Amino acid sequence: MKEQEDCIFCKIAGKKMPADIIKETDNFIAIEDLNPVAPVHLLIISKKHYDSLLDVGGKDDNIGGNEIFALIGELAREFNAWERGFRTVINTKNDGGQTVKHLHIHFMAGRRFGWPPG
Ligand code: AMP
Ligand code: ZN
Repeated sequence: MKEQEDCIFCKIAGKKMPADIIKETDNFIAIEDLNPVAPVHLLIISKKHYDSLLDVGGKDDNIGGNEIFALIGELAREFNAWERGFRTVINTKNDGGQTVKHLHIHFMAGRRFGWPPG
């Protein structure tokens, strides 16, 4: 899907809106969440616009799956979460609690998370 004019994460990923980019790979950027719910709360945002997880993985689409896992490992190391652990979440559509309609993965660390989630 093409960059969307009114999409805040397209603007951030396209560097049209300033943000502290913590890490950047070919297909993703990582930034701090504006409203953190944990001592470490980052968002891994795809550079390409996808409305949600459900739009990923078409025939000619390559989102860079290995890249995501490698990036998560790097964040775990750099944010001191390798030993203690962390949580990654992709909220999808209404029941999933998705509020920004551009694919992103929450990376949260620095406290113990409960299960099941609320
Ligand atoms: P979700 O509810 O899974 O769609 O998550 C959207 C997340 O994006 C929320 O945790 C927001 O706090 C965060 N957020 C929204 N706008 C921005 C922004 N401009 N910069 C950083 N984080 C943002
Ligand atoms: Zn977008």
